[in-house]
Amino acid sequence: MVTSVLTKDKDPMGAAISEYFHKKRAGKLRVFSSSFDEDEIPVSTLFRTFKNMPSLEQEALKLAQGHILDIGGGSGCHSLALQDMDKEVCSIDISPLSVETMKERGVKDARLSNLFDETFTGKYDTILMLMNGSGIIGKLANLPVFFKRMKQLLNTNGCILMDSSDLKYLYEDEDGSYVIDIAGDYYGEVDFRMEYKDVKGDWFDWLYIDFQTLSLYAAEYGFKAELIKEGNHYNYLAKLSLI
Ligand code: SAH
Repeated sequence: MVTSVLTKDKDPMGAAISEYFHKKRAGKLRVFSSSFDEDEIPVSTLFRTFKNMPSLEQEALKLAQGHILDIGGGSGCHSLALQDMDKEVCSIDISPLSVETMKERGVKDARLSNLFDETFTGKYDTILMLMNGSGIIGKLANLPVFFKRMKQLLNTNGCILMDSSDLKYLYEDEDGSYVIDIAGDYYGEVDFRMEYKDVKGDWFDWLYIDFQTLSLYAAEYGFKAELIKEGNHYNYLAKLSLI
């Protein structure tokens, strides 16, 4: 399990976020994956305001209460929206340039930290993981460590609000059947690498998880999973609470 943070020379998303914030425009944030064709993240979407957010995210922000932890805060879009609602939020990210930008944008408590680094401590009522937030878990095999970390960071009545997608649709045949190699890795485990201008990031694992699989693992590790809302592209918002 990686517990470190990025260095600035390997922080393409942070470079894009910082440039967009300072110059009001940015170049291409390119995304590579061995599972998908090359893609691009429009940097402006990382700066979305509450009214431009998908309804799943708006719902999560409305439900978030008490002391909130925004994991993988990015540009700080969710943390700033929460502060606007007078909610108390701490945002962590492994991207030094994103954390710098969050601070410049007014996120009051933004920290350069890896979720899996146990020197990051605190107790939270709501833990937010948004924009396919399950991705940060990386692989199914990391779920036990993930749930252990959540138990350390959550207050007794706290919950995790996480969005994810069921990638099964990518494997659907024309006749409606699915071609999934059940002996292979779980179909939601993918890898990515990003590039912004001359800044090349390293490869990282990213986990998309269907709600049923998430619920099964959650139950195994002491959490109850609730489907809060489904999106329009095989995505959903889940709430995970301690049993
Ligand atoms: N939540 C933001 C950004 C999503 S991108 C938004 O919705 O716009 C995912 C973010 O998670 C990136 O900024 C990345 O640097 C951060 N991240 C990835 N792994 C992490 C980890 N282990 N701990 C903390 N942050 C992490």
